Amino acid sequence: MELTDIGVIKDLFSRHGFSFTKSLGQNFLINPSVCPKIAEQGGCEKNVCSLEIGTGIGVLTKELALRSKKTVAVEIDRTLGPILEETLADCDNVQIVFDDIMKLDLKALFSEHFSDEEVVVCANLPYYITSPVIMRLLEERLPIRSLTVMVQREAAERICAPMGSRECGALTAAVNYYSTPKRLFNVSRGSFMPSPNVDSAVIRLDIAKDRKYPQVIDEKLFFRIIRAAFSQRRKQMINPVSSELKIPKEELSEKFAKCGIKPTARPEELKMEDFVALYAEIFG
Ligand code: SAM
Repeated sequence: MELTDIGVIKDLFSRHGFSFTKSLGQNFLINPSVCPKIAEQGGCEKNVCSLEIGTGIGVLTKELALRSKKTVAVEIDRTLGPILEETLADCDNVQIVFDDIMKLDLKALFSEHFSDEEVVVCANLPYYITSPVIMRLLEERLPIRSLTVMVQREAAERICAPMGSRECGALTAAVNYYSTPKRLFNVSRGSFMPSPNVDSAVIRLDIAKDRKYPQVIDEKLFFRIIRAAFSQRRKQMINPVSSELKIPKEELSEKFAKCGIKPTARPEELKMEDFVALYAEIFG
């Protein structure tokens, strides 16, 4: 069954009485070249397990299952159940978990389904939760080798921007803290049904095996600095950081100077090492 064929999709929908829920970011892939590329460039191999977020009708799920040892897919929309039973009938290494990826106990999911084996995550993410899903998967320090996700093109640009560049934001910093981001390829809006108003891109985040910045003992405090600094991206960061941490500006300015950071610096001018040095100066 060709799951990118519009005739096949319409037939599945009408037989199972399915209709799209826009608020769940349901834009299904209909370009046949995209899913195999996500699975291959996402590192699916016969000795590696894969996790998908958001199955839709199973178009990517199938490609992941074909190439990996075992695939677990989390889908919020139970009305897709009967369709998936049909489309994934031949895949005996797939398990669908009907739940909300934002509420699910991920550590429990990993130990139940993957016995703590290494996992690659591949997903055409629902756009309304792109950043929180990425952040959750990174912050929980799960045994994930890489995260290969389709995101809006603008988000791909922001996430993959080098630190110290104008496009950089708090999400860029978080992604760079935990991983090495890489932009893989673009996907046009016509590759989806229904077609969204924006183009997309697939990115891969290669998760660092060991902590990239072991000097950061308390990540919560570190990210308080990052979030405050980027809360006014184009403005001098000393003001929001001073009020967030309740450190007088003069005192903070001295700490900035010790780290070689100008008191007038904007967050987009700082490299990750500068943030790490500032964290150590303030909390070390
Ligand atoms: N993988 C399919 C494809 O490429 O055609 C579907 C991708 S579609 C952009 C996003 C999918 O994520 C939808 O099936 C939607 O129901 C599901 N979804 C939305 N919010 C979710 C959530 N919080 N947890 C799990 N799945 C979710």
